[in-house]
Amino acid sequence: MVTHDVIIIGAGLAGMRAAVEAARHGLNVVIVSKVHPVRSHSVAAQGGINAAIGEDDSWKSHAFDTVKGSDYLGDQDAIEIMCEEAPKDILELDSMGAIFSRGEDGRIAQRPFGGAGFPRTCFAADRTGHALLHVLYEQVIKHGIGIYEEWFVLSIVVEDNECRGIIAMNIHTGQIHRLQAKSVILAAGGYGRVYKNSTNALINTGDGMKLALDAGAPLMDMEFVQFHPTTLKTTGILVTEGARGEGGYLINSLGERFMSKYAPNALELASRDVVSRAEQKEIEEGRGMDGCVLLDLRHLGRGKIDERLPQIRSLAVDFEGVDPVKEPIPIKPGAHYSMGGIKTDIDGMTEVEGLFAAGECACVSVHGANRLGGNSLLEAIVCGRRAGHTASVYAVESKLPVFPDRALKEAAHSVSVIMNRATGERASKIRDELAETMIKNVGVFRTKERLTTALDKLKELRRRYKSVYIEDKSDVFNTELIETIELGSLLAIAECIIKGAMNRTESRGAHYRLDFPERDDTNWLKHTMFCKDGDEIKIDYKDVVVTKYKPMERKY
Ligand SMILES: Cc1cc2nc3c(=O)[nH]c(=O)nc-3n(C[C@H](O)[C@H](O)[C@H](O)COP(=O)(O)OP(=O)(O)OC[C@H]3O[C@@H](n4cnc5c(N)ncnc54)[C@H](O)[C@@H]3O)c2cc1C
Repeated sequence: MVTHDVIIIGAGLAGMRAAVEAARHGLNVVIVSKVHPVRSHSVAAQGGINAAIGEDDSWKSHAFDTVKGSDYLGDQDAIEIMCEEAPKDILELDSMGAIFSRGEDGRIAQRPFGGAGFPRTCFAADRTGHALLHVLYEQVIKHGIGIYEEWFVLSIVVEDNECRGIIAMNIHTGQIHRLQAKSVILAAGGYGRVYKNSTNALINTGDGMKLALDAGAPLMDMEFVQFHPTTLKTTGILVTEGARGEGGYLINSLGERFMSKYAPNALELASRDVVSRAEQKEIEEGRGMDGCVLLDLRHLGRGKIDERLPQIRSLAVDFEGVDPVKEPIPIKPGAHYSMGGIKTDIDGMTEVEGLFAAGECACVSVHGANRLGGNSLLEAIVCGRRAGHTASVYAVESKLPVFPDRALKEAAHSVSVIMNRATGERASKIRDELAETMIKNVGVFRTKERLTTALDKLKELRRRYKSVYIEDKSDVFNTELIETIELGSLLAIAECIIKGAMNRTESRGAHYRLDFPERDDTNWLKHTMFCKDGDEIKIDYKDVVVTKYKPMERKY
């Protein structure tokens, strides 16, 4: 058995930022990642990262925009900390060597983003995640942090509500290993692949949240799924909100800038839930084209498009056959981000001792019912750093816990059951049906009937998953096995999303019930908590932390 002080699951921005912080405490820190670190989904982030570094801006105004954007479900104490600490973290990334775009005066440039009262999104053209992830990878190398690269975590080992380490498979050999640790940080990203139209990488299957559920750490607010308003028609690839931030318009089949009906002041830069619903309504009422509306950038001109949105131009040309310099881009809403996740406090602590979480897999909650663009990279950095610190202090103060023998046997058994099954159904079919059901019934608009249909289908898929079969019986790089285990995560996550959405008989942020179209603060100003109870998901509720921003009607 190998032993470490701190194990971090995930090499995205949250995981690598946590690792650098833990290494600064002089501890034995390692990262475990199912893909090479710079292939983590953070690398795909385009538009930018928020911080009130502008002379006329303030972190308090950033905090207010975030609370309002969250439709008052975000915990305000945590939001205040994130916004107050943001400028220092951005300047630290800058000094590490992040190549932020600059204004004429040489300062870090900032662009307007949806739901923000000030242009406070810092960016590196439209490849911000790429720039930041590579800089943090350099820091990880510089600090000599070990990486279990292309290792897949199968379980978190917990006894007496205390984390003892993890069980992970080396994907190169198929061998299963015990990794003992004083503290473990989950930074395993989101679950966007539970939906068919998704901006997310294929690896975003919610494994971290499933691992936490199994380990006894509750999830929170899983019914809140963000749909991004601008994803390419054919592939679902993201077109950054920065395209609208730089001045892009949304138009329908009649050539109308339809956002004037839905958000007369903010127009295209209303928050994402508002814009996605407006588009979906235009499409469903017959003012779309082939299930899409159009994003028009032509008036920005070739110069600005090439300087500020070079990746968007090449993605549109390569994947949609449309050059935005000459033609509008057909776009539609697509699943993008998980507001919900593993319940933590602002220091990354979960309800299991020695187990911490940060980044998209965590729910602090700083995004509440709807995240503002640019706030997720920020959360990954601020909360990654804070979780790295807390987990390190915990490790310094703890003795190495006893690692139970049963853990390895149990994980190996569950893998061998799948490997040894001689016949059955392939995972890909179940996964496709799940993704289709989720987009159709648990998407931008929800109703009791649609959610009931989804839950019935999910029960059927879970039953079928019990006899899932894989054809590839080899140990070396068995991606069919990995994808089958990932499907188990997707099914567990889908159940939480559907059940949370069925119970919540109101509309708030990204959760919109056609049968309950109003926000209901009297009954629903509360977080949904999800725990595992045997084979079932048990739901409970928790109060929202309100400091100084009293809930008001949300208008853009
Ligand atoms: C296309 C796109 C563009 C975006 N643009 C922006 C933007 O401009 N601004 C913004 O604020 N946000 C943006 N977001 C959201 C933001 O990028 C993510 O929320 C954030 O980067 C998540 O970081 P993370 O570190 O939590 O997880 P990730 O970067 O997703 O990393 C997850 C890590 O967990 C590892 N992992 C997962 N499961 C396992 C397992 N079972 N075993 C081992 N390892 C595992 C993976 O290998 C990976 O290293 C965007 C998202 C997408 C999809």
